[in-house]
Parts: sequence; C-alpha cells; structure tokens
Amino acid sequence: MDFRDTPEEAAFRAEVRAWLAEHLTGEFAALGPGGGPADETGWDVRLEWERVLGADRWVGLSWPEEYGGRALEFGLQVIFNEEYARANAPARVSFFGEGLFAPTLIQFGTDEQKRRFLPKIQRVEELWCQGFSEPNAGSDLANLQTRAVLEDDAFVVNGQKVWTSMAHVADWCFLLVRTNPDAAKHKGISFLLVDIKTPGITIRPLRQLTGEAEFNEVFFDNVRVPKDNLVGTLNEGWAVAITTLAYERDVLTFIRHIALRNALHRFVRLVKERKRGGDLLVRQKVAALWIGEQALQMNAYRSLTKILRGGEPGPEGSTSKLFWSQIDQELAQAATDVIGPYAQIAEGSEWAPDDGQWEFYELLARASGIRAGTTEILKNILGERVLGLPKD
Ligand SMILES: Cc1cc2nc3c(=O)[nH]c(=O)nc-3n(C[C@H](O)[C@H](O)[C@H](O)COP(=O)(O)OP(=O)(O)OC[C@H]3O[C@@H](n4cnc5c(N)ncnc54)[C@H](O)[C@@H]3O)c2cc1C
Repeated sequence: MDFRDTPEEAAFRAEVRAWLAEHLTGEFAALGPGGGPADETGWDVRLEWERVLGADRWVGLSWPEEYGGRALEFGLQVIFNEEYARANAPARVSFFGEGLFAPTLIQFGTDEQKRRFLPKIQRVEELWCQGFSEPNAGSDLANLQTRAVLEDDAFVVNGQKVWTSMAHVADWCFLLVRTNPDAAKHKGISFLLVDIKTPGITIRPLRQLTGEAEFNEVFFDNVRVPKDNLVGTLNEGWAVAITTLAYERDVLTFIRHIALRNALHRFVRLVKERKRGGDLLVRQKVAALWIGEQALQMNAYRSLTKILRGGEPGPEGSTSKLFWSQIDQELAQAATDVIGPYAQIAEGSEWAPDDGQWEFYELLARASGIRAGTTEILKNILGERVLGLPKD
C-alpha cells in the first residue's frame, strides 16, 4: 500500500477539513467525541449535527448515487473518517444505520429495499438499531431463540433481545430471528427489518456502568412484520449476519483507531501536565501504547488494501477489533494510574481531572472487550478460521 495521498485524495482531504472547520463550531464542536453513538448528553444537538452531515452528503459516501450516496471509493470514506476523528467531532448517531446496516443491505437487499431504506438513512430521517444478542445468545449468537412464523403476508415474531444499543431512540431494527427450529442452528435463521413502533414491541432501557442507558431489553409479543421485510433468503440469514459482523469488527476499526489516537494525544498531554514524563515506567507505557496504535493503523491499511482490490472484510479482520480493545483498555488503565485516586471522580465535580473524561473512559473501556465480539470469541475465530486450528 502507498501511504501517501494521491492528488485526488489530498484534494478530498482538504475539502473535508475545510467543511469541518466551517461547520463544526459552537454547540456542535462543544459536544466532543466522548461517549458512544447513543450518548445521552446533548442528544438533540447530536441528531441535528448528523442531519447537517446528511444534508451536505457526508453520510453514505461510498453508496451508489441512486440510493443517495456519492459513489466514492472506499479509500475516500476512510479519509473522511480520519479527518472526522481528527477534528474531535461527535460520535455518529447513524453508526448502526450507515456503518452496519447499509453495507449489508447493499450486498443482500432487493432494489426496492435499498430504495426504501437507504435514502432515509442518508438524510438521517430514520435511525437503526441492531437486534442480534439475546439472554442466551451473545457469543453463541447462532443459538438465538426469537421465533418468527410466516402467516400469510407477515412474519409473527415472539421473543426477546438484549443489549440493543439505541433501541429507545431508533426507528427501525435489523433483527435476527429463528424461522426454522428443526434445522441445524446456523441454518434456520432469517434477517428481518422491523419498524420499532410496531404494536407488540416493548423497550426497556438498561443503565450501564458509565451511568448512561445506551442499550435496552426489547420484547416481541406477536409482532407482525411484512414478509417483504426479509433480507436475503429465508433461513439463510446467518450469511447476512456474518457480513454485518465483519463490518462491525473490521471496517469500523478505521473509525475506532483514530479515536484511540486522539485519546493517546490527550494522554500524552496529561502526562506532561502532571510532570510524569521523567518517570521511566510511564515513558515506557506511552511508547508501548504509541507502537500499538501504529501497528493497529498498519493492520487497518492491510484490510483497506484488500477491500480496494475488490475483496470483502473477512475473519482476519477480528485482529483489528481484538488489538484495538486491548490497547483501549491499557490506555484507560495507564491514564488512571497517572492521575491516581482522583481518576475516579466523574464529570460535574470541580475535583474531576480533565472534566471527568478519564473516569468515563476507564468505565467505557470495560465494554471494549465485549461489544462486537468478546476477546475470547475473537481469539477462537482467529484460531479456527484464520490459522486453521482444531475447533473449540
Ligand atoms: C456496550 C455494548 C453494546 C452492545 N450493543 C449491542 C447491540 O446494539 N446489539 C446487539 O445485538 N448486541 C449488543 N451488545 C451485546 C454484545 O454483542 C454481547 O454482549 C457479546 O456478544 C457477548 O455476549 P454475552 O454478553 O451474552 O456474553 P456471553 O456470550 O455469555 O459470554 C460470557 C463470557 O464467556 C466467554 N465465552 C463465551 N463463549 C466462549 C467460548 N466458546 N470460548 C471461550 N470463552 C467464551 C465470553 O468471552 C465472555 O467473557 C452490546 C454489548 C455491549 C457491552
């Protein structure tokens, strides 16, 4: 891979930077990049910001033009993500729709489905959530039990999802359901699109360690979903889901690692402010984190090269998510060590260092090794599907 921008890439990078400098101001800039896609802080402002992005067509950059995209090559999408993170812009509320669902629909959806759903994601008129995990199907996702039975023109859905981020603010949910209970567990699953306001759906927010309620329990009680909302082939939804997961674990690392780099810059500033730069152990930690972040970037470029050559994200992309989560957690721990006991004080207190951002970072980092595939599961995938080791 050539790491230098081509003239076209350099011009695009300059355009993104100029646009962000002009628009990411005032209350939008004040939001900062903290929290996740469903961060409750300043929700209305974050939604408004996302609509500003959509209006100037920064959402759906790589999608075909007929569905509202700009049909830019994926490398330019990565440049946008880099500049976006570098500008400390807010976490994207379209994360699930634009980042996970849209690429899956582009690959597996019908023309009609693409025309119906993609432009509304692009204009930020509809937000999405991901209904995969269940109380007994997280790591072992194929064990999911939420049932859908085809009755005339609709699937009737019964069951429960859990940890559904943003269900309480979303309009639609891409949902994995069991449509054939007699088949082997990977074989009887289907991928449905569900209007979250359909009668029979109950959403209960779950408050997490950080104090936010980003995710929810979602209950389905005889929920009727039009049969045209099936994506891909009946009972073959596992292949569709694997595509979504590959985007979540691999492609989205382009966003994750740049946010991590920004946090690393803030950590170095913290070390200097606290005059800990002369401490040998702290210096070694900074160097190790820096090297880790660089390695992560090189690995992300390797995936990018594969995608630009026409490939799809594959199981080896699990390395990106795995190593990102390790470095993220080490960084959180290192900042906590440098600050000492005051690192426990949350935003809002006059005693909270850096407005409590490290307290939040440390608590949020606990989830890094769980969401989008736990550390153990990613190691299993790498062992079995990349290295060809015997099955777990
Ligand atoms: C912040 C956050 C947001 C999330 N958002 C969403 C969302 O929007 N939509 C959604 O569908 N899900 C979401 N999830 C759920 C997430 O995908 C699951 O938590 C994850 O897949 C793990 O499943 P589990 O929680 O059921 O844990 P389990 O699968 O019960 O695992 C418990 C522990 O056992 C280990 N383990 C399990 N099986 C094995 C094995 N075979 N070998 C070795 N170790 C094993 C795991 O690594 C883990 O440490 C979110 C999770 C978090 C933390």
